[in-house]
Amino acid sequence: MTLDEIADHVRVVPDFPKPGILFRDLTPLLADGAAFRATTAALAARAGDFDLIAGIEARGFLFGAALAHATGKGLVIVRKPGKLPAATIAHDYALEYGTDRLELHADAVPAAAQVLLVDDVLATGGTAEAAVTLIRKAGGSVARALFVMELEGLPGADRLRAQGVEPISLLNFPA
Ligand code: AMP
Repeated sequence: MTLDEIADHVRVVPDFPKPGILFRDLTPLLADGAAFRATTAALAARAGDFDLIAGIEARGFLFGAALAHATGKGLVIVRKPGKLPAATIAHDYALEYGTDRLELHADAVPAAAQVLLVDDVLATGGTAEAAVTLIRKAGGSVARALFVMELEGLPGADRLRAQGVEPISLLNFPA
């Protein structure tokens, strides 16, 4: 399956979750076994060398878990506040209005582990940048981040590059 065929499984939902947002819905892609498998294989082909995958809640868990299975590597999960049961470290980051927080188990990342970050969509880059900061705080290093898609015209890729992280996306869509 080509990347264009994978892209055909992404549904656009206008005005979700709020007016003016074109939401890129990956549920049709996940529901199609061939498309999900091809997406996982395309991510694996771009993964490079790494020790551990970090998936960002929530859709980063789906692609992160599939990639962990495909590559034989482990998966750690970067979660929204209050979800992880053991001792955590946290990072607060700015949203358009207000702030948000990501958490990681304090012992999730072995010292100096090379962590590959995975999420579904790279938009403004605020979420991925916060995850990178958190993984580094936990003692890991991050050199590459994989996304199923990147929204063009937003600063996400540049923000990651400024952090020394190479962003790689399978698909590009207008924001
Ligand atoms: P950002 O922090 O702006 O890069 O946003 C990234 C997060 O928000 C990802 O975890 C995506 O799941 C989600 N997201 C942002 N914009 C969209 C969009 N247009 N369609 C689908 N998901 C989005």
